[in-house]
Amino acid sequence: MRHRTSKKGVVIFAFATLSQFACAHVSVPETERTRYLMGTLCTITLPSAHAAAAERAFDEIARVESLISTWRDDTELSRVNALPAGGRMTVSPELAALLQTTIDWSEQTGGAFNPLLGTLIDAYGVRTKFRIPSAHVVQVAIAESDVDNVRIEGGGVAKNADARFEEGGFGKGFALDRAIAVLKNAGVPYATIDFGGQVVWFGAGSRDVGIAHPLKRHEEAVVISVPAGSVATSAGTEQTFEIDGERYTHIIDPRTGKPLPPAGSVTVYADSAIEADILSTALFVMGPVEGVRWADAHGVVAIFVVPHDRELRLTTTREFINQRVGISRSILTDEEKSYK
Ligand code: AMP
Ligand code: MG
Repeated sequence: MRHRTSKKGVVIFAFATLSQFACAHVSVPETERTRYLMGTLCTITLPSAHAAAAERAFDEIARVESLISTWRDDTELSRVNALPAGGRMTVSPELAALLQTTIDWSEQTGGAFNPLLGTLIDAYGVRTKFRIPSAHVVQVAIAESDVDNVRIEGGGVAKNADARFEEGGFGKGFALDRAIAVLKNAGVPYATIDFGGQVVWFGAGSRDVGIAHPLKRHEEAVVISVPAGSVATSAGTEQTFEIDGERYTHIIDPRTGKPLPPAGSVTVYADSAIEADILSTALFVMGPVEGVRWADAHGVVAIFVVPHDRELRLTTTREFINQRVGISRSILTDEEKSYK
């Protein structure tokens, strides 16, 4: 494939959901198991001799779901959300560590990622019926999403003000890391998990990860080649809403309190699944200009894919090139190719 690298990286086109790995271990019989978890499909591919471990990994994801889902009232995170301003409750060390991690990422990303978006998500009816709330409602919701409203200390969570966690931006990534730990502890030599489009794998060598075309989601537009780790994409297009001719995604800029318009996608590759999950959302919020600058300053491997007129452009970060993440295949037509 013809391409040119510049300070900003390679530029092509595209959109993305991740799927389909070329398997590096073709001679060993493999088993694929799928379960519906956290509102989406989770598929584990592993050597057939270790198939039983897949069930244990699914059970682990189900356990994480029963810890952090805010779609049901009986989880620890839902009880944290129900805590009134001024309240404090003891939580499991696992939840305390997870929430602290998400707050740390919020601070590092200048608030582009924010785990406390519960009130904003409800204000827009993202989980029910999408609507545009009044400016006053948005202001109140922005104030409630301030991470300073929550303190994780002494094995508990304390709230100074109303604030509710929204796990949609980090839950699947966290669950994937736990599932991978279960597989490794069970002695599985290599495996791949595809959880609603976020992929994580471990084992020797590199694997190919397909990035789907933004406008033709079932077509792979680009295939990147990555060593063990996780690849997450934020596109906002699996769920969009239209009001008065304007299109919105389910990704909110916590700084303005507004849902972002569809604008291509960003794919992040990282060692841990939670990091890839969180950073793909954060970089989508930042957009390609601020996002590439931030990602370059923080050594993040990322690819922005943004439609531009009739073309789709893909911009890679410096670390994408430094780590020699390869673009191994592209199905772009000449018309779709674009170079900076
Ligand atoms: P992802 O598809 O991984 O980018 O996650 C999007 C989901 O994360 C949304 O459906 C919301 O549940 C949540 N979310 C939306 N905007 C943000 C944000 N700025 N920071 C953290 N989570 C967000
Ligand atoms: Mg994410």
